[in-house]
Amino acid sequence: MTSSTAPSRNGTPDRDDLRRSVTRDNEGYDAARRATMWNANVPARFPDAIVHARSIDDVVAAVRAAKAAGRRIGVRSGGHGWSGNHVRDGGVLLDMSGLTDVTIDKAAMTATAGPGVGGSDLLKTLMKEGLFFPVGHCRGVALGGYLLQGGFGWNSRMVGPACENVTAIDYVDADGDLRHASETENEEMLWAARGSGPGFFGIVVRFHLRLHRRPAFIGTWAVQYPAERLEDLVRWMDAIGPDVPPQVELQFIVSRNPSFPPPIRRATRRSPVRIELLAPVMAESRSAAKAATAFLATRPKGARVRTPLLPMPMGAMFSGVMQHYPSATNWETDNLWTHASPDELLPHLLHVAATMPPPPAHMLWLNWAPPPTRPDMAFTVEDLTYLAFYGGWKDPTDAAGTTAWSRETVAAMQSLSSGVQFADDPGRPARAVSEPAQVRLEALRAQHDTDGRFHRWIGST
Ligand SMILES: Cc1cc2nc3c(=O)[nH]c(=O)nc-3n(C[C@H](O)[C@H](O)[C@H](O)COP(=O)(O)OP(=O)(O)OC[C@H]3O[C@@H](n4cnc5c(N)ncnc54)[C@H](O)[C@@H]3O)c2cc1C
Repeated sequence: MTSSTAPSRNGTPDRDDLRRSVTRDNEGYDAARRATMWNANVPARFPDAIVHARSIDDVVAAVRAAKAAGRRIGVRSGGHGWSGNHVRDGGVLLDMSGLTDVTIDKAAMTATAGPGVGGSDLLKTLMKEGLFFPVGHCRGVALGGYLLQGGFGWNSRMVGPACENVTAIDYVDADGDLRHASETENEEMLWAARGSGPGFFGIVVRFHLRLHRRPAFIGTWAVQYPAERLEDLVRWMDAIGPDVPPQVELQFIVSRNPSFPPPIRRATRRSPVRIELLAPVMAESRSAAKAATAFLATRPKGARVRTPLLPMPMGAMFSGVMQHYPSATNWETDNLWTHASPDELLPHLLHVAATMPPPPAHMLWLNWAPPPTRPDMAFTVEDLTYLAFYGGWKDPTDAAGTTAWSRETVAAMQSLSSGVQFADDPGRPARAVSEPAQVRLEALRAQHDTDGRFHRWIGST
């Protein structure tokens, strides 16, 4: 067994310089409040105090103090929730980014990790041992929020959403007691932790994870199309989607700043809209990867640039994705799961391409095509295709055309939506778990958080 404290690059600037506890009347309160979010579009909500936990004992003490004072608690780990669900008016904001312990049992193919561990950091450590876990696609996304909400990670079509690979949790309950939940102990809390995301009613201080073997081949294949090919692509994706092998995360991104091919000059609001068709692949060998991507030969004609299937270091895979998510940017996101037909989707998507805001705004089409069954867990809403709209702006003059873009686009598609992902939390009322799962969650919350110590998901209030 190996043990380490992972170097966390989880989006908390100058964490060590922050005071352990900051209250509203302290100088630096607002900087500390803002620093809890990766999204620069910080909501105008103001907790009374921000407490930085460095240990499980700190978490226990913070919950007991909040209980004694009758205060509610918001929790953050990496601050990558788009809506700032953890930033609430009044009460305590408990920052878990300091809990970054990792242990790895290579023989048992298991690990434990604190909620503040950055997924990319964990993966780097695991890959050195020949191991793998489906962490999120961007650097900085911490395990805390990521694992609770589902976790659509690298190779997740193959090994399941990350929460499916959580075997147990250690958590602090609403009374400030440290507990363990597994399939044989406090089972209902493990069920809830696997998918309730920002609606979880406890504080996870340690995740127990099932690991996988590092895929022998990791690489990608990419093609760029002009916007005029969008209709052909949508019809093709719809036709092949259910049959795409699970080793392939087929997706396309519509934007004015494609990451492929690597840009020669900076994209501007006048840059043309392009479509990147990307096929990251993780397989047991290069020949298996080639076989899994053979269907790409049927892709629509009219591509401008393309690469062959190339092996790629994980670092380069992360960097490619990060090009679409610059930091210090204001973001408004919205999303939908759908199995709607191309004829139903196309009027909306053609409008999206025609009215694409300036970079880094973009739209993602992810082919998900889930298996027919999953283990019993709160994670219950998914569909054939995932569509997400990321409205991002740095320049205030771009705000007017971008702030409402994702929300209005998804509102117009409501009749085609089978629900939303917590991952791209739109912070509005929406169905992110099935109705039966929601009923079960409410009953569990009533039992485990009788005083309403923990906030509900902001979209449910
Ligand atoms: C640039 C970017 C890229 C992303 N890429 C992906 C991706 O590839 N796949 C994917 O699935 N998601 C992705 N996400 C979404 C991300 O996984 C979620 O927003 C997730 O909630 C982030 O976790 P966090 O701990 O960093 O966020 P936080 O904002 O800290 O937490 C989000 C919410 O989770 C809850 N929470 C967090 N920690 C705890 C805890 N220890 N105990 C109890 N509750 C807790 C709280 O309710 C909190 O409001 C991405 C987000 C961004 C900004």
